[in-house]
Amino acid sequence: MVKEYDVIVIGGGPAGATAAGLLAKAGRHVLVLEKEKFPRYHIGESLVPGVMPVLEELGAREKVESQLFLRKYGTTLRWGAERELWTIHFAEAGPWEYAFEVKRAEFDNTLLNHARELGATVVEEAAVSEVLFDGARAAGVRYTLGRRGSAVDVRARYVLDASGQSKFLAHRESLLEWHEDLRNIAVWTYYQGGEFFPGKDRGNILTEYHGDGWVWVIPFADGTRSVGFVGPSDLYAETGLGPEEFFQSRLKVSTEARRLLDGAVRVADYRVTKDWSYAAKTFTGPGFLLAGDAAAFVDPLFSTGVMLAMKGASAAARTVDRILDAPEREDDHQQHYEDTYRDFFGTVVSFVRYFYDARRKRTDYWERAQELIDPVRELETRADFIRLVSGLADGLAVMDVDGGAPAPAGANDS
Ligand SMILES: Cc1cc2nc3c(=O)[nH]c(=O)nc-3n(C[C@H](O)[C@H](O)[C@H](O)COP(=O)(O)OP(=O)(O)OC[C@H]3O[C@@H](n4cnc5c(N)ncnc54)[C@H](O)[C@@H]3O)c2cc1C
Repeated sequence: MVKEYDVIVIGGGPAGATAAGLLAKAGRHVLVLEKEKFPRYHIGESLVPGVMPVLEELGAREKVESQLFLRKYGTTLRWGAERELWTIHFAEAGPWEYAFEVKRAEFDNTLLNHARELGATVVEEAAVSEVLFDGARAAGVRYTLGRRGSAVDVRARYVLDASGQSKFLAHRESLLEWHEDLRNIAVWTYYQGGEFFPGKDRGNILTEYHGDGWVWVIPFADGTRSVGFVGPSDLYAETGLGPEEFFQSRLKVSTEARRLLDGAVRVADYRVTKDWSYAAKTFTGPGFLLAGDAAAFVDPLFSTGVMLAMKGASAAARTVDRILDAPEREDDHQQHYEDTYRDFFGTVVSFVRYFYDARRKRTDYWERAQELIDPVRELETRADFIRLVSGLADGLAVMDVDGGAPAPAGANDS
């Protein structure tokens, strides 16, 4: 039995499971500590094609496909100066034609079990209460098993914080910086039945803007729908309404969402979350790295959260793998992770900010996408827009600090 691990991962969501799986695949002894018992509920149900290469890298794509999640071939929007609906299809910008609409309980459980199969040790209902430091260097964690368990200390050469919006290390190390201009609130619930987009578009998410915010409608394979409203936190506070009255008042002014929900029945309570856009001042420190929402989170406008979590975790896994091989180069490898992830994340944030001005023309959004990800104008502007919102813009292809393209984690395994 391993007494000291190579890596301890805090949290078993998409970021934690991805990093743990890839590090285990690379032959590292990995311990994942997850405070919940999986499967557990989570928001963040509409995926973008940017998750597909990471599922391939993990060798988990077939498992996810076999879960019969609804395939999402595109996105339907009512957004911008022109008020009619418009639809984009991921295939227009290839190479991944679709992603999935997922119940996160099932999706996350599949990924976490996959990490186990790749060799990671996963302990559920294990809440990390402290990161242990040797001087300034992270050297392990303290956790409690179950509700009444006693504290257990476990050591590792590296600690990866993938604790999601708990932001475990960012809180403790005072690293948080909020995006004040994106202080939004979301109120959501679930419906059964109603109308669906026809044919291949059945799995599209609807994103519909209405003056003071926007509504999402995400269909699932079982005929249920996740329906939410996102708008400024202040607006919610000012109305003085409770979640139900507030949500229904916003739904009432939508047109397409209401049409899709015609005849549908609400099947769940309302949920509320607010104040979520932020980035940690640094994603790294001696002996530790932050990944996924634990590092940074941007408004869910383009459904990029799970993609950022998984792509970022893949980059984090490679970074840690290299540092364990060459600890004397920790600073270089960390700096590279920091720069690459901040750049990629920054592109998404910048585009979300631009897109939130819903008075612009559709072509303005496309042109802005091109400016951000394709300055040499290799593709048409519309294709660049699709590539960006698919999470397929270049940016997280982690290169060696020496400049050469790295072998994927695990590529040297015999
Ligand atoms: C309103 C809203 C809508 C969203 N919609 C979408 C969407 O449509 N598509 C999309 O891709 N994303 C969406 N997101 C974002 C998405 O939910 C997240 O980006 C994604 O879940 C991040 O994955 P993660 O692994 O970093 O964190 P998480 O999925 O949150 O996983 C973190 C895990 O760490 C565990 N943990 C926390 N603290 C501890 C501790 N101390 N010890 C042990 N374990 C711990 C938690 O239990 C959890 O399981 C949305 C977010 C919000 C707020």
